[in-house]
Amino acid sequence: MATAYSKSKIETFKNCPRQYKFQYIERAVVEKPVSVENFLGSAVHYALEKLYNFKMNTRLLSKEELLELYRKYWETPEKDKIKVTREGLGVDDYIRVGSEALAQYYDKNAPFEDGTSVALEKKITFPLDPEGRFTISGVIDRICRRHDGVTEIIDYKTNVSLPTQQTLDNDTQMGLYQLGVKYLWPDFKEIQVRQVFLRHGVSLTAVMNDDKLEEIRYRAFQDILEIEKVRRDDAFPPHESPLCDWCVYYELCPAKRHRLSLDDDLGVEFDKEAGKELAQKYLELSRKKKILEAELEAMKDDIFKFCEQADITTLVSALGSVKITVSEKEAFPTKTDDERAFYDLALLARQAGLEECFKLDSGILYKEFYAREKLPEDLKRKLEKFLIKKVQKSIRTSIKKEVPDIDFGE
Ligand code: SF4
Repeated sequence: MATAYSKSKIETFKNCPRQYKFQYIERAVVEKPVSVENFLGSAVHYALEKLYNFKMNTRLLSKEELLELYRKYWETPEKDKIKVTREGLGVDDYIRVGSEALAQYYDKNAPFEDGTSVALEKKITFPLDPEGRFTISGVIDRICRRHDGVTEIIDYKTNVSLPTQQTLDNDTQMGLYQLGVKYLWPDFKEIQVRQVFLRHGVSLTAVMNDDKLEEIRYRAFQDILEIEKVRRDDAFPPHESPLCDWCVYYELCPAKRHRLSLDDDLGVEFDKEAGKELAQKYLELSRKKKILEAELEAMKDDIFKFCEQADITTLVSALGSVKITVSEKEAFPTKTDDERAFYDLALLARQAGLEECFKLDSGILYKEFYAREKLPEDLKRKLEKFLIKKVQKSIRTSIKKEVPDIDFGE
């Protein structure tokens, strides 16, 4: 059976694998406060769904009816639990913002004759890979068949800020929606994705050709392979970041428990003071190590320069010897060398059915397949254009067994 993923599931993993485990594997039960931004989004989506639902059934809601539906959505017992984090703002400010955005949308688009709604709040699921090992699910706000025959995937946003066109054209979620609609409705030939930024009264259309969609599919596939690997090893490390401040699993998190126990005098089952001492000692040693490593790194350049000028490869002292080597090697580019070339190479490797080895290391693609002549000639020729030259410099030291004491200082 296929394993189901969604953009938010993948995103959670990328932000913090431990949070992913709490949420999707352990399903830890914690209190989840509702953020006012999320509630505003739900309220606006609810009102627009009703508006287009009535329209599909040939009744046009008036602006007052639309706003009344929106206001009613806020009248929920949950209202008191809604969390507002922005200083100086309250829930009523957000209610007003949503109301103004909807009124503006209504004025601009009534009587809503842009096309025929095919689906509203549509849950889609489609296979991500040809073997159907993984599926992607998502909910599309509205799918509309425009009068010019174009199918529009419409996504309503209540964000404060607008993305750039470039960000939108690379948006994974929009790409996955498009792939999903292409799969579910193969007869829809021309598909566009439009995001409606309600606060701004602005619509932006994402431009994604087939290559871009394949790149998005490939990236999602690679992310999922990574999750599956971590899942097999059951190794979900916490990844601390500013997002921790909003994490509902904060108090359960192994990265936070020691800190919490020291700050809040919590009763814990470990010796928190011993932990503090270990951390202190380790950090002091690490600091010294860093200083020494920086000094070594700086010395390397001097050593290479000295050896080049003197045309020698080995320096000697009372402690032992320092040997340098300089060579050039062929390699495929890594993501850090050249991101664009890396993705082009990734696509090519995928087309050749080599994506799993590529995911491990582009070096493996080179060493195990290319250099060992294991690939068909035409693929080899295509890969050749990716080859780059890398200069490798290394230093090996050999220290005599009997050496005088070294003073590291403080
Ligand atoms: S508190 Fe931070 S590190 Fe811990 S699970 Fe949450 S996001 Fe991850």
